[in-house]
Amino acid sequence: MANQAAVDAFRSGLRGELIDPQSPNYNVARKVYNGMIDRRPRLIAKCADVADVIAAVNFARDQKMLVSVRGGGHNAAGLGVCDDGLVIDLSLIKFVRVDPKKKTVVAGGGSLWGDVDHATHAFGLAVPSGIIATTGVGGLTLGGGLGHLTRHCGLSIDNLLAVDMVLADGRFVTASAKENPDLFWAVRGGGGNFGVVTAFTFKAHDISIDYAGPTLYPLEDAAEVLRWFSKFIVKAPNDLGGFFAFLTVPPGPPFPEHLHLKKMCGVVWCYSGPLKKAEQVFKPIRAFKKPALDLAGPIPHPALQSMFDPLFPPGLQWYWKADFFRELGDEAIALNVKHGALMPTMLSTMHLYPIDGAASRVKNNATPWAYRDAKFAQVIVGVDPDPAKKDTISSWAKDYWSAVHPYSAGGAYVNFMMDEGEDRVRATYGKNYARLAKIKKRYDPANLFRVNQNIKPK
Ligand SMILES: Cc1cc2nc3c(=O)[nH]c(=O)nc-3n(C[C@H](O)[C@H](O)[C@H](O)COP(=O)(O)OP(=O)(O)OC[C@H]3O[C@@H](n4cnc5c(N)ncnc54)[C@H](O)[C@@H]3O)c2cc1C
Repeated sequence: MANQAAVDAFRSGLRGELIDPQSPNYNVARKVYNGMIDRRPRLIAKCADVADVIAAVNFARDQKMLVSVRGGGHNAAGLGVCDDGLVIDLSLIKFVRVDPKKKTVVAGGGSLWGDVDHATHAFGLAVPSGIIATTGVGGLTLGGGLGHLTRHCGLSIDNLLAVDMVLADGRFVTASAKENPDLFWAVRGGGGNFGVVTAFTFKAHDISIDYAGPTLYPLEDAAEVLRWFSKFIVKAPNDLGGFFAFLTVPPGPPFPEHLHLKKMCGVVWCYSGPLKKAEQVFKPIRAFKKPALDLAGPIPHPALQSMFDPLFPPGLQWYWKADFFRELGDEAIALNVKHGALMPTMLSTMHLYPIDGAASRVKNNATPWAYRDAKFAQVIVGVDPDPAKKDTISSWAKDYWSAVHPYSAGGAYVNFMMDEGEDRVRATYGKNYARLAKIKKRYDPANLFRVNQNIKPK
């Protein structure tokens, strides 16, 4: 417990706001995206700038307080917030600066991907991120970052040029290929273990209008679709992305009424190459089988990135399980089809993201992301607005995962995991774990930053 004089001094020195359980906005400020998470921090420091972040890190360390760092607050395990500690909330450090000549983008540590998409689109540029615009740039990037553009442009970390960070001892540093290269290696997948990132510099790509959207198929055809998809996508041109999904059709436009609330399977495509070639690229997709619904067509990149945001507002209950796969054989496909059909609620889903193409041109040890040779990242997510369904959605995700896990490559994408313990973290980083632990010891020997998928200093 921090002493009151120290809290008062910390508060008076902040340009942002220090929130405590007596503050009227405490209950709003402690909420994160996953409604299942209900933590009660002792203090929440809404940092306005780097100076505030330095003060917050020094305060937490000197007062021996548990500390969590909150970027966009989207983490499934709620790792942006902690019980009885200090939350370093970066949501006010939100800015994006695009350099259209150099095609680089600097984003504040508390920015959301929607902020980046909005700013870059004005210049016909895009930075590879995920599939939901309300996700934080911070957590998504530090864990890797996979999404619509992964096959074309690589993971978000493959497009990261530099970070500005506040370290556990309060020092402010820049890490890039030239400056503090060990730290730069570690932050490209090692999560929030190494310090608080106050700004990210990315390389941007000439991507403005995609040819994208879902093609949906009846659930009865799921085995055939999954078999075809898993073979087709890894041979497709790299500027075609597409993830397979089990889903329930939402009861509203643009979906036709006869499909409303029907469990189906499908692929959400994103072709980000020259538009004039799009119809040609989609020929084999349309030739494979006539979909029950084909919504693929030209769409501005930010519209695609935010397409699912209204379906998944903050505050829903989420339970996640994940794995990497090198291949999908007939048995694994059959188990996926069996458990996919058992989706317990309308919003529950399974996504299978291809992580080949540009992402697989990077070596397994070039960044902490140790599964460059895997072909797919799977995430099974039980989702529902009703807290009473917590157990139903969790058991479905756990059962599904237990059935398919024996066919997986071992670890999982850190950003798709709940709080699953050290063995899972080690499995995820594989041979890169030992190097991460060494760098952790150098930059955070007392493990101040441990509310994350934790790497123990060694
Ligand atoms: C609906 C939804 C869709 C998603 N889709 C995708 C997707 O398509 N692709 C994908 O790759 N991931 C996806 N994710 C997963 C997402 O990448 C993680 O949840 C990620 O942790 C979110 O980052 P955040 O900043 O919003 O989270 P937070 O909860 O704020 O933080 C998560 C972790 O990152 C650390 N952190 C955050 N910002 C910083 C910072 N600036 N400096 C230091 N540490 C920091 C935190 O300490 C914490 O440990 C999705 C998540 C959700 C909920």
